[in-house]
Amino acid sequence: MVEIPVVALVGRPNVGKSTIFNRLVGDRVSIVEDFPGVTRDRVYATGKWLGNDYRLIDTGGIELDDQPLMKQIRYQAEIAIDEADVIVMLANGQEGLTREDEVIASMLLKTDKPIILAVNKTDNPEQRMDIFDFYALGLGEPHPVSGAHGTGLGDLLDQIVASFPKDLATHYEDTSIKFSFIGRPNVGKSSLVNAVLKEERVIVSNIEGTTREAVDSKFISETGKEMTVIDTAGIRKKGKVYENTEKYSVMRSLAAIDRSDVVCIVLDAETGIRDQDKHVAGYAYEAGKGIIIVVNKWDALKKDNDSFKDFTDKVRSEFRYLNFAPILFVSAKTGQRLDQLSPLIEQIYENRNRRVQSSLLNDVVMDAVATNPTPTDKGRRLKIYYMTQVAVGPPTFVVFVNDAELMHFSYKRFLENQLREVFYFEGTPIHLITRERQ
Ligand code: GDP
Ligand code: GDP
Repeated sequence: MVEIPVVALVGRPNVGKSTIFNRLVGDRVSIVEDFPGVTRDRVYATGKWLGNDYRLIDTGGIELDDQPLMKQIRYQAEIAIDEADVIVMLANGQEGLTREDEVIASMLLKTDKPIILAVNKTDNPEQRMDIFDFYALGLGEPHPVSGAHGTGLGDLLDQIVASFPKDLATHYEDTSIKFSFIGRPNVGKSSLVNAVLKEERVIVSNIEGTTREAVDSKFISETGKEMTVIDTAGIRKKGKVYENTEKYSVMRSLAAIDRSDVVCIVLDAETGIRDQDKHVAGYAYEAGKGIIIVVNKWDALKKDNDSFKDFTDKVRSEFRYLNFAPILFVSAKTGQRLDQLSPLIEQIYENRNRRVQSSLLNDVVMDAVATNPTPTDKGRRLKIYYMTQVAVGPPTFVVFVNDAELMHFSYKRFLENQLREVFYFEGTPIHLITRERQ
């Protein structure tokens, strides 16, 4: 797995952080109505520049409402220092240098991480002359940008990409199966990590990463596979002021999901399913990760004959798009069924990386078409010529057809289900891409 660098934007309010954020990630921030919250928060998103993927954090979006302004700014700078590989400090060229800018710069100067100074709202050439004052911050050359006009952003991105740590990929290059426990505070994520590690033969615990100080734990599974539990929100940062803010914990969760092969969405059997549970689940799905729904605290629930069925039904109706994900009822406290977790993760990892021969795929397509004829529209019938797998992790298939518009959602869903049944893709999303070929 290649580690993707993280870039954080910091700066006092109104300098234009969210404007620049939107410019940099643009329409790459997906807005999917089914998944409330996350994707619209615009605090964390993926961008790409000259073939380089990166993740962008707008620390200004992590609000600490009850804190005075100066404290908020300090915490945001602290988050940038903790989370990012490259920090972009944004100032406002039209207002000039302010006391708050100096405070932020002095905090940032304490880290060894690369810092890039950008002066926003330099909308025209004359204003570009005024940016030299900003040398006083001690952060090196100020880069003039305009979020309003989109100027200077190419140069800024060049600078950002040039500052990416060189050792990132090699540092994390590691073939172990990575998984994480994701969920709202108090569902039992830390307890699950501890309980899993207690059962396993831990080989390296608490690996301190150099770049982001991630605390991951590696162990060997029953079958001899190396596995790594990825550090998540609420596990590492306990005690930090900003740890319990929802946006921060969501952002940490998204970062952990990005680094995982398989994500365990943790629900609390006692408190049931809340809206917040769905936020990050949608992201894991969109990111194409393997998914297990882990219902924790099963020991604490007063159970009757229908408890399993009732909870399963609830999960299935609240997380419709995750109908491929297995549900595991566990207790971090008693250890109940935790022995099933690693084998399940391994299995899903395999499913997610399964490659199917084209000949087999096309047999399945032919059978599928024979049992359920392709749809027609205005006298034209969908013709499927050929299907081939183009990627793993998640399995991605391209299906060549005569007319893509004839591939209705329901027929696509039908084909996906056929693939799932025959090739056993339990626990992994699969992608089916329709392409026209005359
Ligand atoms: P944030 O609080 O740092 O996230 O700042 P915003 O992105 O919300 O921007 C604050 C205000 O500055 C908004 O009214 C923006 O429209 C405006 N703004 C952002 N970038 C520019 C720019 O390049 N030039 C000008 N003139 N205004 C800008
Ligand atoms: P996190 O915030 O998601 O990391 O949650 P913690 O692991 O800190 O757990 C929150 C609380 O739930 C703690 O008081 C735990 O002791 C309790 N807890 C965690 N797992 C279980 C469980 O399986 N059963 C019961 N009864 N309590 C649990």
